[in-house]
Amino acid sequence: PQVPDVEALQHADVARLLPRPKAESDKYRRGVVGIVAGSGRYPGAAVLAVSGALRSGAGAVRYVGPGAEAVVTRYPETLVSEGPPGHAGRVQAWAVGPGLGDEPAARHAVDEVLDSDVPVLVDADGLRLMDMDAVHARTAPTLLTPHAGEAAALLGVAREEVEAGRLAAVRRLADQTGATVLLKGSTTLVAEPSRPGSPPSPVRVNATGTGWLATAGSGDVLTGLAGGLLAARLSARDAASAAAYLHGLAGRLATDPPAATDVATALAAAWQDVLRTD
Ligand code: AMP
Ligand code: MG
Repeated sequence: PQVPDVEALQHADVARLLPRPKAESDKYRRGVVGIVAGSGRYPGAAVLAVSGALRSGAGAVRYVGPGAEAVVTRYPETLVSEGPPGHAGRVQAWAVGPGLGDEPAARHAVDEVLDSDVPVLVDADGLRLMDMDAVHARTAPTLLTPHAGEAAALLGVAREEVEAGRLAAVRRLADQTGATVLLKGSTTLVAEPSRPGSPPSPVRVNATGTGWLATAGSGDVLTGLAGGLLAARLSARDAASAAAYLHGLAGRLATDPPAATDVATALAAAWQDVLRTD
């Protein structure tokens, strides 16, 4: 049978994917997501990534890095530590990269996270800092969330080339890295690496967004959200596409013009909107 090139998730599909607490749930079973983000230079990225993770349905958010004090001041429900990720408690998934800068400690943190045996999302500065051999060596799911410029850098091509052929670019990056790739932009594409002998799975397309999402820090919120969905045991493909859907919807539900903080706040309304249809 012919496999379509692309598919779009509908409200009801997302409702089915989202994690729901069960009577016997506890916060650990619902999943702990570890966030590695922020630096002296970009302290806000830590707070924004955590804000998205807190609206992901995971049971707890653990922040690891130099922004611990700022994070816990803003979100006292966050578990925080300042040391390297390898010394933090157990998590069910890591999201790493927003605002990390390029200090040696940041590179080391990315290495440690990639060495772990849990799902890992890599975004933003993490995409520059990651060692490609470490990505290839991973056994647990890996999700990369570049915008066009970051995807172009990874592919070694000009940004215009990615923008002119986004479907081909996201597929190529997934094949090249062996990771699931979420390519951001006015529509968001999610591709999986193709497996030899099987037809490529359709690329998921999300168009719930709005141009208002092109605002500083909005990608950091998406990173926390998708990381939390990974911790709640969604597959990389489902976590990426459900996160893109909710994030886009939140961008529409927030008052115009939204700041990234408003998008994070509106995630609760986006969840309500999706769950209402179920
Ligand atoms: P970043 O590039 O990391 O700051 O992330 C920006 C976020 O905003 C991503 O989730 C993009 O998909 C989204 N975004 C950027 N531009 C647009 C647009 N024109 N329409 C819809 N969403 C957008
Ligand atoms: Mg970004």
